[in-house]
Parts: sequence; structure tokens; C-alpha cells
Amino acid sequence: MGILLLGGSSEASLLARELSGRGDVAATLSLAGRTKNPTALPLPTRIGGFGGVEGLIAYLKAEDVGAVIDATHPFAAQMKRHAFEACAATNTPLCAFTRAPWIAGEGDDWIEVDDAAAAARALGDEPKRVFLTTGRLQAGAFAGPSPHHFVLRSIDAPEPDHLPASLDLVLARGPFSIADEIALMRDKRIDIVVSKNAGGEATRAKIDAARELGLPVVMIRRPKTPERPVFVRVEDALGWIEAHRSAS
Ligand code: NAP
Repeated sequence: MGILLLGGSSEASLLARELSGRGDVAATLSLAGRTKNPTALPLPTRIGGFGGVEGLIAYLKAEDVGAVIDATHPFAAQMKRHAFEACAATNTPLCAFTRAPWIAGEGDDWIEVDDAAAAARALGDEPKRVFLTTGRLQAGAFAGPSPHHFVLRSIDAPEPDHLPASLDLVLARGPFSIADEIALMRDKRIDIVVSKNAGGEATRAKIDAARELGLPVVMIRRPKTPERPVFVRVEDALGWIEAHRSAS
């Protein structure tokens, strides 16, 4: 059975490793092509957009795809919508493999907002030193005149016109340890952290570090997703594949 694995997340990497070398399924990993040097994975990989819903429908038909697994990052809302619509139009089984969101616990001081623009507004007018960890795709919301100084961390540098005026750029790829996050926040004299509610272990140390330091976190909620089966454990995603493989 041909499987299209929509990637760009650590869950997709995990599933790609599980699906490689199997004789009963032929999985192809799809990446948007945003990261300059993506982690090499042991699956045939295609890179670049499909050309909207119509393009994805054409791809599913041309490649005779038997099932789609949407393992895109929780914030890749458009790709999720396109996958849902294209799978509905072609009657292709679709599931999502993702990670659970973080939940605020005792000692956390979160200001929850719906998107990056609301996060920028939530910083207020009083000058602050902001640890901006939303990644370069959302950095544009913080560009332009602002009373704040930003310490922006991302894997690749954002586009020049997406950079805040007052800026320290830290290029780094997680996972990060709590001790390193505390040291960075102290060193940069951070007042407030901005994060997406990405979930997962690789980047949660910043949230734990903020709690330890008593810093508030502007937390961007996840975008809404279409209705389809969602798995957070790899064995459940593999079970779903098995059920569709044996039925095909
Ligand atoms: P998006 O807004 O949901 O999608 C924008 C367009 O990029 C899609 O319409 C599609 O183009 C193309 N695309 C996205 N994911 C793709 C994939 N896996 N394979 C082929 N084409 C894809 O996505 P995004 O937020 O820009 O994220 C792009 C990629 O980075 C995703 O793969 C995502 O998993 C990863 N990522 C995103 C974030 C984030 O915060 N958004 C964080 C970490 C990683 P067409 O319409 O032409 O098909």
C-alpha cells in the first residue's frame, strides 16, 4: 500500500523510521522545503508544495496513494486543511499523528492567545526583553517598530523583513535542556517568553525554565484542525496503517 506521510515534525521523523524498510507498505515522506538542512530520514522524500488542494488530489491519484498520514507540525493549519479536503475528494483514508499540547500546571503564568498577532499585542506598551521562540514562520508578527527588545531563536534566520527592530538572533535547533534555557534567559535578562503551544518534549524546557524563573509566557493556542482520527502514540498510528493495509 502506498502511504503519503506529510512531515516537518519530530512525529513524522519517528514514523518515517518505523516505516522504512518495510515490504508491505511503500511510504513517501513529503516536506514543504522550509528548513534549509532537514534531518535526513530513511524514506523516499519529495520536497515542495503540491499546488493547493487540486495539486494534492492530482498527486494522490497519480501516485495511487492508499492512505495519508498527516504528521505536520501542530501549527501547519493550511496543509492540514488541504490534506483533509483532498482525502475527502478522493476517498483516501486520512489520520493525524501528532503530540499532545502542553497544559499549564501549578506555578505556570500563561497568557493564552489565538495567534501571533495577538501574542505581539499581549506584550503591551511597557518595554520588555522578550524571548521569542515561535520560530521564523511567525516572526513577522513581531517585526516593525516596538518598545520591546527581542531575543529571537529559530533554526534558520527569518526573512530580513520579518525581523524585529531591536534584536538578538539565536540560531539553534532543539532539544534544549532546562539548565541551558535558564542560563540563556538569565544571560539575556528575559522578562517574558513567547511560545506556540507546540507540545512535545524537544522544546518544552523553555516552559519549565520560565516557571522556575517566575516568568510569564504568552502561549499561542493551536489552530483548529479538521475532524479525523488523531493519534499521539506511534503504535496507534501503526495500528491504523495496519488496519487499512489489511483492508486494501
Ligand atoms: P502551512 O501553512 O500549513 O502550509 C502552507 C503550504 O506549504 C501548504 O499549503 C503546502 O503547499 C505546503 N506544505 C506544508 N507542509 C507540507 C508538506 N509536509 N509537504 C508538502 N507541502 C507542504 O505550513 P507551514 O506552517 O508553512 O509549515 C511548513 C512546514 O513546516 C510543514 O511541513 C510543517 O510540518 C513544518 N513546521 C511548521 C511549523 C509552524 O510553526 N507552522 C513549525 C515547525 C515545522 P501547497 O498548497 O502548494 O501544497
